[in-house]
Amino acid sequence: MSLEQIENTEGKFINWAGSYEYTSSKLYYPKNVEEVQILVKNLDKLKVLGTMHCFHGIADSEENLISLKYLDKVINLDKDTLTVTIEAGIIYGHLAIYLYKNGFALHNMASLPHISIAGACATGTHGSGNKNGNLSSAVRAMEIVTATGDIITISRDKNYEEFYGMVVHLGGIGVVTKLVLDVQPVYMMKQMVYENLRFDQLKDHFIDIMSSGYSVSLYTRWQDKMLDQVWIKRRVEHGKENDYDTELFGAKQAKENRNPVFGMSAENTTDQCGIVGPWHERLPHFKLDHTPASYGLELQCEYFVDLDKAYEAMMAVETLHDEITPHLWESEIRTIAADNFWMSPFYKRPSVAIHFLWKQDFDAARKLMLKIEEKLEPFKAIPHWGKLFMVEPGKFKEFYPKLPDFVNLCKKYDPNGKFRNKFLDNFVFNNA
Ligand SMILES: Cc1cc2nc3c(=O)[nH]c(=O)nc-3n(C[C@H](O)[C@H](O)[C@H](O)COP(=O)(O)OP(=O)(O)OC[C@H]3O[C@@H](n4cnc5c(N)ncnc54)[C@H](O)[C@@H]3O)c2cc1C
Repeated sequence: MSLEQIENTEGKFINWAGSYEYTSSKLYYPKNVEEVQILVKNLDKLKVLGTMHCFHGIADSEENLISLKYLDKVINLDKDTLTVTIEAGIIYGHLAIYLYKNGFALHNMASLPHISIAGACATGTHGSGNKNGNLSSAVRAMEIVTATGDIITISRDKNYEEFYGMVVHLGGIGVVTKLVLDVQPVYMMKQMVYENLRFDQLKDHFIDIMSSGYSVSLYTRWQDKMLDQVWIKRRVEHGKENDYDTELFGAKQAKENRNPVFGMSAENTTDQCGIVGPWHERLPHFKLDHTPASYGLELQCEYFVDLDKAYEAMMAVETLHDEITPHLWESEIRTIAADNFWMSPFYKRPSVAIHFLWKQDFDAARKLMLKIEEKLEPFKAIPHWGKLFMVEPGKFKEFYPKLPDFVNLCKKYDPNGKFRNKFLDNFVFNNA
């Protein structure tokens, strides 16, 4: 088969939020790994699109884009090794349904089930939970088509050092065509929302609150020194279906489902009020068959700081409350366990995530990001790879001590920079 025979289209391609137009007007849709290999062998430059949920040009190419939307199958569930092998284009929501039907589960999910597994793992996408590593921590092995068109397989057991350099790869190593993920026996969950928790309770009880569930999210609009909502997601332990206290440090249980965005309808959110349901219908905040809170009219940025400094960092942001609130849908605070992935924002650092869901006004968001970054400077705040930020490229060498090793790894598998783009040059390669 030749390059021309592979399905492709020309046009304008825009990210999920409608906020970023990709530079290339050529998009290929390979139907199998062989077609991926043909593309990689024949194109000088290319980037892979996942589900296009990043807010900037990390997935962009000036020349060619490829989408793995047809490579979206579950290949094998191995009940002995507790792993599932998937094609890289599948989204979390679809894998979750398959796993649930077969009696298995993942350790965690992001706020929504619509994102691709390959794209999420590439950027260190996370859920919440003091003991939960980011989503890529479930990766046990990956199949990658490298710049020559050859296939390599790397695994946690066999390629220990390189593996930790390649799982959070920012799209810089090659085209990931398969992933092997850890699974565990199915579990049920429930979630309870508490409303109006005063910030001063976080001073002494931040860790208690963030440890009060398997996954916990705090929501605030930064007004009145108050959290609007605390979402506590618990795994159902036998005989403990109803173990939520009626109050949480003065906050009261919500009596009906809530939307994380204050005042918005809860029809698109997963069930709350302690109602027990499958893990994949409680871990994400939003239902698979609905659109998330802002219906895409949003911009996002998120910063990770030391878990120990969570309260101080939040209070530094709080000083900007009157400037932030008019431009914000909501802020979410989550925790993430440390990991060993070289380019993970959580590399060897238990972290707290301070997230801002902005209304879609770029000028306002940019100005506020600059101010927030200045406030968070003393906390070595690392931005999310997939979200907006204003941080100077030179800072990334400080954030990522293994950045030079990562660059060497990229050069080993892609010596001529086939998978490099402006974003990677700017924030990674030029800083090595
Ligand atoms: C509404 C919304 C909610 C979100 N919620 C969360 C959240 O809860 N937690 C969180 O941490 N983040 C969250 N994010 C951010 C999101 O998870 C990340 O931006 C993630 O990387 C998006 O995955 P994607 O497949 O859409 O990636 P894309 O934007 O399509 O691509 C991301 C990167 O992965 C690369 N890539 C994708 N597939 C492959 C492949 N097969 N081989 C090689 N490279 C590949 C791309 O080239 C690019 O570098 C959210 C974003 C949105 C819009």
